[in-house]
Amino acid sequence: MEKRKVVIIGSGPAGYTAAIYAARANLAPVLFEGFMTGPAGGQLMTTTDVENYPGFPDGILGPELMEAFRNQAAKFGTHILTEDVVSVDFSKRPFYIKGGQTELEAEAVIIATGANAKRLDIEGTRDGQFWQKGVSSCAVCDGAIPIFRNKMLYVIGGGDSAVEEAIFLTKYGKRVFIVHRRDQLRASKIMAERAQKHPKIEILWNSVIEEVRGAKVVENVLLKNLVNNEIEEREAGGVFFAIGHQPNTDFLNGQLALNPAGYIEVKGASTYTSVEGIFAAGDVQDPTYRQAVTAAGSGCMAALDAERWLSHEGIE
Ligand code: NAP
Repeated sequence: MEKRKVVIIGSGPAGYTAAIYAARANLAPVLFEGFMTGPAGGQLMTTTDVENYPGFPDGILGPELMEAFRNQAAKFGTHILTEDVVSVDFSKRPFYIKGGQTELEAEAVIIATGANAKRLDIEGTRDGQFWQKGVSSCAVCDGAIPIFRNKMLYVIGGGDSAVEEAIFLTKYGKRVFIVHRRDQLRASKIMAERAQKHPKIEILWNSVIEEVRGAKVVENVLLKNLVNNEIEEREAGGVFFAIGHQPNTDFLNGQLALNPAGYIEVKGASTYTSVEGIFAAGDVQDPTYRQAVTAAGSGCMAALDAERWLSHEGIE
């Protein structure tokens, strides 16, 4: 079986950046970019304009940005495999990685499999309906686009993310409604107070959105009150899911320590995980920032951590 110094699992900004740094350090990395588990390139592949990635004052399309990352990783000699990783064995070194077609051994592994924003299966919000035409799962990424300007915006969820996204959206929307299924927010007290006191935010308690309607973009939502079961049609220009993220860690099969929310635990401000020689970067270890630029930054950190660790272990 072929043995590599560095194998990278995952292909968003974190994985590709780790590959660029590892390749330029002559570590000849192999990168599993995924195949069936989600689009190679990660969450940005399902976004339109990215306006907050530094270096692109006029914005850039998410897929275009990821293609550039990928090309840069390949240019410096990253071997990219369009395969999912099916399983890993991190119990002994070298580590073992089983892809859809390829099996490899690795001295060091960087995990950058990201996280997916959870969505609800609401009529009108699916791919091919109003998804990315007024329905989004990232206010920070999409909130500033013109279709949301001066509109009635709805954020589904009751946690810190929902509040944070609602506050962010007040910069653009006419009014922002937080649609929460219960009568109490899960968000921290300070965040909850901020939402409740904000003049542009209203919380719709015990409520769910049953359907999103419109012609070409979102125009209305059907809001159901769970106490009296009444359904009301309301004007709407945007619907944002903020019900949490799901880090992609199933393939690890419990071999790395995760935090209670399922994210890979890293040591301090590093990318070291609970297993020496395994590093984690990007959203799979970041419940807080979750931005392309922070993911890219931590991909760079993971490659530098791996390079220094390999050198310390005498693996040149
Ligand atoms: P979260 O705390 O897990 O909250 C998820 C929210 O979505 C909950 O209110 C939940 O309702 C609701 N929800 C889940 N499934 C639902 C469903 N099927 N239908 C309707 N509603 C549903 O997730 P989060 O807000 O993304 O936060 C994740 C972590 O990041 C937290 O630890 C949070 O403190 C942290 N965070 C911090 C900040 C900050 O400090 N600035 C910002 C963002 C996130 P229930 O309440 O009824 O369960």
